Amino acid sequence: HETIAGYDNELAQAIADEARRQEDHVELIASENYASPRVMEAQGSVLTNKYAEGYPGKRYYGGCEYVDVAERLAIERVKQLFGADYANVQPHSGSQANQAVYFALLNPGDTILGMSLAHGGHLTHGAKVNLSGKILNAVQYGVDANGIVDMDEVERLAAEHRPKMIVAGFSAYSQVMDWARFRAIADKVGAYLFVDMAHVAGLVAAGVYPSPLPHAHVVTSTTHKTLRGPRGGIIVASRQGMGEGAEEIEKKLQSIVFPGIQGGPLMHVIAAKAVAFKEALEPEFRTYQQQVVKNAKAMARTFVERGYKIVSGGTENHLMLVDLIGREVTGKDAEEALGRAHITVNKNAVPNDPRKPFVTSGLRVGTPAITTRGYREADAIELTHWICDVLDAPGDEAVIAEVRGKVEAQCRKFPVYG
Ligand code: PLP
Repeated sequence: HETIAGYDNELAQAIADEARRQEDHVELIASENYASPRVMEAQGSVLTNKYAEGYPGKRYYGGCEYVDVAERLAIERVKQLFGADYANVQPHSGSQANQAVYFALLNPGDTILGMSLAHGGHLTHGAKVNLSGKILNAVQYGVDANGIVDMDEVERLAAEHRPKMIVAGFSAYSQVMDWARFRAIADKVGAYLFVDMAHVAGLVAAGVYPSPLPHAHVVTSTTHKTLRGPRGGIIVASRQGMGEGAEEIEKKLQSIVFPGIQGGPLMHVIAAKAVAFKEALEPEFRTYQQQVVKNAKAMARTFVERGYKIVSGGTENHLMLVDLIGREVTGKDAEEALGRAHITVNKNAVPNDPRKPFVTSGLRVGTPAITTRGYREADAIELTHWICDVLDAPGDEAVIAEVRGKVEAQCRKFPVYG
């Protein structure tokens, strides 16, 4: 029963340093959040020791009676959370959940139509460097000149390429996606509609962003972003969305996750998912998600007031893209300068970005983490002004030092874990 400290001091120091970084830096990466101590308790539990290949009640190993309880709780709760009739809580990550969907319902060489990475989609939606773009024939759609998903282009591309699957969902898009129109287009060409709601899952659970469940044949998510659980993935679906083929779709999804692409499920993570889903069913979770959106809207307004352009003009969810096209400061420079001020953001390509993906002309800013800390609009607005102060003078170390002092004081006001 030894601790890491005293046994492996180098690693212990790294963990302690990361804990301190999380406390005294402000976290604006849109895909990050702080899991609760209860979630971490489950994730650090003895459930990590257990092999449980298979599904509750049908395992390939003995001694699964208690981990079965954990997985059943996770399944029942996630179904309730999203109004799902089907749920698989075993995917190790969002990427593996997506891979499972592709391998369950498609064959190599089949055509998919997904949102391009450069316009806000995810790597797993058909990018050339990802397996989805290598094994499948990926056609990509994007946003129009105003930064809004071009549904007419989606319809035109679907008619032209007759995809077997349309992928909707995003990593960097701040507007509401028209799930119903996506489904109508998919039905017109006989395609499956697959929605990856990873970024907005928490908002969907709380009813502050439209649910894709009634519209999509299948939906995946990560559990660690707005949903605020452990790192991991899920697959969910509704009878309404799956339609007549429901039984077959469910069967295919079950067998592709295990034994198709994964071995033993991470039972400690599944237990942590069960805790997170219980937390997400509490009334406070809805208040939290409403505040996430309020904070994002307040930040977007402040950026605009300070003369910064926001892609699509504003936000309807937890994130926004600050457009730096035409400015001297690049996304990379801005990320680095803000980092020195203890503000963590990520550079992000904006639509029609003239700079390379490793440089970019944009920043992605999200509010899930600061809202978990307790930030309200006034705090978010204050913070946005400091960000703009740095962006206005990215090479000015005096400004950066001054902002860093203010950020550290603000962070002390809102401890993450106390
Ligand atoms: N899908 C979307 C929309 C994402 O934004 C991400 C993560 O950034 C993923 C899938 C992948 O999740 P993971 O990092 O767990 O593989």
